[in-house]
Amino acid sequence: MKDLLNLVLFGPPGAGKGTQSEHIIEKYNLTHISTGDLFRKHLGEGTDLGKLAQKYMDEGNLVPDEVVIGMVDDKINGTSTAASGFIFDGFPRTVPQAEALDRLLEGKGQRISGMIALDVPEEELKKRLLARGKTSGRVDDQNEEKINNRIQVYAKETLPVAEYYEQQGKFNKVKGIGSINEIFESISTVIDNFSQEK
Ligand code: AMP
Repeated sequence: MKDLLNLVLFGPPGAGKGTQSEHIIEKYNLTHISTGDLFRKHLGEGTDLGKLAQKYMDEGNLVPDEVVIGMVDDKINGTSTAASGFIFDGFPRTVPQAEALDRLLEGKGQRISGMIALDVPEEELKKRLLARGKTSGRVDDQNEEKINNRIQVYAKETLPVAEYYEQQGKFNKVKGIGSINEIFESISTVIDNFSQEK
Protein backbone atom coordinates (compact mmCIF):
# COMPACT_ATOMS: atom_id res chain seq x y z
CA MET A 1 0.00 0.00 0.00
CA LYS A 2 1.31 3.47 -0.76
CA ASP A 3 2.63 5.55 2.11
CA LEU A 4 -0.02 8.10 3.03
CA LEU A 5 0.46 11.41 4.80
CA ASN A 6 -0.43 10.83 8.44
CA LEU A 7 0.03 13.87 10.66
CA VAL A 8 -0.17 14.52 14.38
CA LEU A 9 -1.18 18.11 15.13
CA PHE A 10 0.02 18.79 18.63
CA GLY A 11 -0.18 21.65 21.10
CA PRO A 12 -1.79 22.84 24.33
CA PRO A 13 -5.49 23.67 24.57
CA GLY A 14 -6.12 26.95 22.74
CA ALA A 15 -3.09 26.58 20.44
CA GLY A 16 -5.30 26.70 17.32
CA LYS A 17 -5.27 23.00 16.39
CA GLY A 18 -8.92 22.95 15.30
CA THR A 19 -8.61 26.09 13.17
CA GLN A 20 -5.42 24.93 11.45
CA SER A 21 -6.80 21.40 10.94
CA GLU A 22 -9.58 22.81 8.78
CA HIS A 23 -7.05 24.40 6.44
CA ILE A 24 -4.76 21.37 6.42
CA ILE A 25 -7.49 18.84 5.57
CA GLU A 26 -8.67 21.00 2.72
CA LYS A 27 -5.21 21.48 1.18
CA TYR A 28 -3.90 17.94 1.69
CA ASN A 29 -7.17 15.97 1.43
CA LEU A 30 -6.80 14.31 4.83
CA THR A 31 -9.37 12.67 7.10
CA HIS A 32 -9.68 14.66 10.33
CA ILE A 33 -9.68 12.70 13.58
CA SER A 34 -10.24 15.05 16.51
CA THR A 35 -10.86 13.06 19.69
CA GLY A 36 -12.31 16.18 21.40
CA ASP A 37 -14.84 16.60 18.55
CA LEU A 38 -15.67 12.87 18.63
CA PHE A 39 -16.31 13.00 22.38
CA ARG A 40 -18.47 16.13 22.00
CA LYS A 41 -20.47 14.32 19.28
CA HIS A 42 -21.04 11.34 21.60
CA LEU A 43 -22.01 13.73 24.39
CA GLY A 44 -24.52 15.50 22.15
CA GLU A 45 -26.03 12.17 21.11
CA GLY A 46 -26.18 10.96 24.71
CA THR A 47 -24.32 7.68 24.01
CA ASP A 48 -22.80 5.60 26.83
CA LEU A 49 -19.35 6.65 25.65
CA GLY A 50 -20.43 10.30 25.82
CA LYS A 51 -21.76 9.87 29.36
CA LEU A 52 -18.55 8.19 30.43
CA ALA A 53 -16.38 10.92 28.90
CA GLN A 54 -18.39 13.84 30.24
CA LYS A 55 -17.16 13.77 33.81
CA TYR A 56 -13.55 13.89 32.68
CA MET A 57 -14.17 16.56 30.05
CA ASP A 58 -16.12 18.86 32.36
CA GLU A 59 -13.19 18.98 34.76
CA GLY A 60 -10.56 19.26 32.06
CA ASN A 61 -9.07 15.85 32.86
CA LEU A 62 -8.09 13.20 30.33
CA VAL A 63 -10.52 10.45 29.41
CA PRO A 64 -8.87 7.04 30.18
CA ASP A 65 -6.50 5.78 27.48
CA GLU A 66 -8.37 2.55 26.67
CA VAL A 67 -11.57 4.51 25.98
CA VAL A 68 -9.82 7.00 23.70
CA ILE A 69 -7.83 4.32 21.87
CA GLY A 70 -10.94 2.17 21.28
CA MET A 71 -12.77 5.16 19.81
CA VAL A 72 -9.85 6.06 17.49
CA ASP A 73 -9.50 2.42 16.41
CA ASP A 74 -13.19 2.37 15.40
CA LYS A 75 -12.85 5.65 13.54
CA ILE A 76 -9.73 4.57 11.61
CA ASN A 77 -11.28 1.25 10.65
CA GLY A 78 -14.57 2.87 9.72
CA THR A 79 -12.93 5.31 7.31
CA SER A 80 -12.77 4.60 3.60
CA THR A 81 -9.33 5.05 2.05
CA ALA A 82 -10.43 7.80 -0.35
CA ALA A 83 -8.48 10.51 1.48
CA SER A 84 -4.69 10.83 1.32
CA GLY A 85 -4.16 10.10 5.01
CA PHE A 86 -5.18 11.17 8.50
CA ILE A 87 -4.63 14.22 10.63
CA PHE A 88 -4.83 13.46 14.33
CA ASP A 89 -5.88 16.49 16.35
CA GLY A 90 -5.81 16.39 20.15
CA PHE A 91 -4.62 12.78 19.96
CA PRO A 92 -2.33 11.20 21.11
CA ARG A 93 -2.32 12.97 24.48
CA THR A 94 -0.33 10.37 26.45
CA VAL A 95 2.62 8.14 25.59
CA PRO A 96 0.47 4.95 25.77
CA GLN A 97 -1.90 6.57 23.24
CA ALA A 98 1.06 7.36 20.95
CA GLU A 99 2.27 3.75 21.20
CA ALA A 100 -1.23 2.45 20.48
CA LEU A 101 -1.51 4.73 17.44
CA ASP A 102 1.76 3.38 16.04
CA ARG A 103 0.42 -0.16 16.45
CA LEU A 104 -2.93 0.70 14.85
CA LEU A 105 -1.25 2.27 11.82
CA GLU A 106 1.31 -0.51 11.55
CA GLY A 107 -1.57 -2.97 11.29
CA LYS A 108 -2.64 -1.08 8.18
CA GLY A 109 0.88 -0.85 6.70
CA GLN A 110 1.00 2.85 7.62
CA ARG A 111 3.00 5.13 9.90
CA ILE A 112 3.02 8.66 11.26
CA SER A 113 4.81 10.96 8.80
CA GLY A 114 5.49 13.63 11.40
CA MET A 115 4.25 15.76 14.26
CA ILE A 116 3.58 19.48 14.06
CA ALA A 117 3.67 21.13 17.48
CA LEU A 118 2.03 24.55 17.73
CA ASP A 119 3.96 26.72 20.17
CA VAL A 120 1.93 29.38 22.02
CA PRO A 121 2.84 31.15 25.30
CA GLU A 122 0.68 30.21 28.31
CA GLU A 123 -0.76 33.71 28.88
CA GLU A 124 -1.98 33.82 25.28
CA LEU A 125 -3.61 30.37 25.66
CA LYS A 126 -5.60 31.49 28.68
CA LYS A 127 -6.77 34.62 26.87
CA ARG A 128 -7.86 32.65 23.81
CA LEU A 129 -9.69 29.97 25.81
CA LEU A 130 -11.63 32.48 27.88
CA ALA A 131 -12.60 34.34 24.70
CA ARG A 132 -13.66 31.07 23.03
CA GLY A 133 -15.73 30.15 26.10
CA LYS A 134 -17.94 33.18 25.55
CA THR A 135 -19.13 31.89 22.17
CA SER A 136 -18.40 28.13 21.97
CA GLY A 137 -20.71 27.03 24.76
CA ARG A 138 -17.91 24.70 25.90
CA VAL A 139 -18.16 24.23 29.66
CA ASP A 140 -14.43 23.54 29.84
CA ASP A 141 -13.62 26.96 28.32
CA GLN A 142 -15.73 29.02 30.67
CA ASN A 143 -13.95 28.81 33.96
CA GLU A 144 -10.42 29.88 34.74
CA GLU A 145 -9.83 27.05 37.17
CA LYS A 146 -10.78 24.45 34.54
CA ILE A 147 -8.61 26.15 31.95
CA ASN A 148 -5.65 26.13 34.34
CA ASN A 149 -6.23 22.45 35.05
CA ARG A 150 -6.21 21.62 31.32
CA ILE A 151 -2.94 23.47 30.86
CA GLN A 152 -1.44 21.62 33.83
CA VAL A 153 -2.69 18.24 32.56
CA TYR A 154 -1.11 19.10 29.20
CA ALA A 155 2.25 19.89 30.80
CA LYS A 156 2.27 16.77 32.95
CA GLU A 157 0.65 14.05 30.84
CA THR A 158 0.80 15.27 27.25
CA LEU A 159 4.20 16.97 26.83
CA PRO A 160 6.05 13.62 27.03
CA VAL A 161 4.33 12.75 23.73
CA ALA A 162 6.48 15.43 22.04
CA GLU A 163 9.56 13.65 23.36
CA TYR A 164 8.22 10.35 21.99
CA TYR A 165 8.09 11.77 18.45
CA GLU A 166 11.35 13.68 18.92
CA GLN A 167 13.09 10.35 19.55
CA GLN A 168 11.74 9.13 16.22
CA GLY A 169 13.00 12.28 14.47
CA LYS A 170 9.41 13.33 13.73
CA PHE A 171 9.02 16.43 15.94
CA ASN A 172 8.57 19.85 14.29
CA LYS A 173 7.83 23.02 16.21
CA VAL A 174 5.82 25.81 14.54
CA LYS A 175 5.21 29.26 16.01
CA GLY A 176 1.50 29.38 16.85
CA ILE A 177 1.10 33.15 17.11
CA GLY A 178 0.47 35.52 14.20
CA SER A 179 -2.30 35.47 11.61
CA ILE A 180 -4.08 32.22 10.78
CA ASN A 181 -2.60 32.40 7.28
CA GLU A 182 0.96 32.99 8.46
CA ILE A 183 0.75 30.01 10.79
CA PHE A 184 -0.77 27.88 8.03
CA GLU A 185 2.08 28.84 5.68
CA SER A 186 4.65 27.66 8.26
CA ILE A 187 2.74 24.41 8.74
CA SER A 188 2.51 23.83 4.98
CA THR A 189 6.28 24.23 4.63
CA VAL A 190 6.82 21.52 7.25
CA ILE A 191 4.27 19.19 5.65
CA ASP A 192 5.77 19.64 2.20
CA ASN A 193 9.08 18.49 3.66
CA PHE A 194 7.46 15.31 5.00
CA SER A 195 6.05 14.63 1.56
CA GLN A 196 9.50 14.98 -0.01
CA GLU A 197 11.11 12.68 2.53
CA LYS A 198 8.76 9.83 1.60
P1 AMP B 1 -10.16 19.07 23.06
O1 AMP B 1 -11.34 19.48 22.25
O2 AMP B 1 -9.11 18.40 22.25
O3 AMP B 1 -9.62 20.20 23.90
O4 AMP B 1 -10.69 17.97 24.10
C1 AMP B 1 -11.69 18.26 25.05
C2 AMP B 1 -11.63 17.23 26.17
O5 AMP B 1 -11.89 15.93 25.65
C3 AMP B 1 -10.30 17.11 26.89
O6 AMP B 1 -10.14 18.09 27.91
C4 AMP B 1 -10.39 15.70 27.45
O7 AMP B 1 -11.24 15.64 28.57
C5 AMP B 1 -11.09 14.95 26.31
N1 AMP B 1 -10.10 14.42 25.34
C6 AMP B 1 -9.97 14.77 24.03
N2 AMP B 1 -8.99 14.09 23.44
C7 AMP B 1 -8.46 13.28 24.39
C8 AMP B 1 -7.40 12.35 24.40
N3 AMP B 1 -6.65 12.10 23.30
N4 AMP B 1 -7.13 11.71 25.57
C9 AMP B 1 -7.85 11.93 26.67
N5 AMP B 1 -8.86 12.80 26.74
C10 AMP B 1 -9.18 13.49 25.60
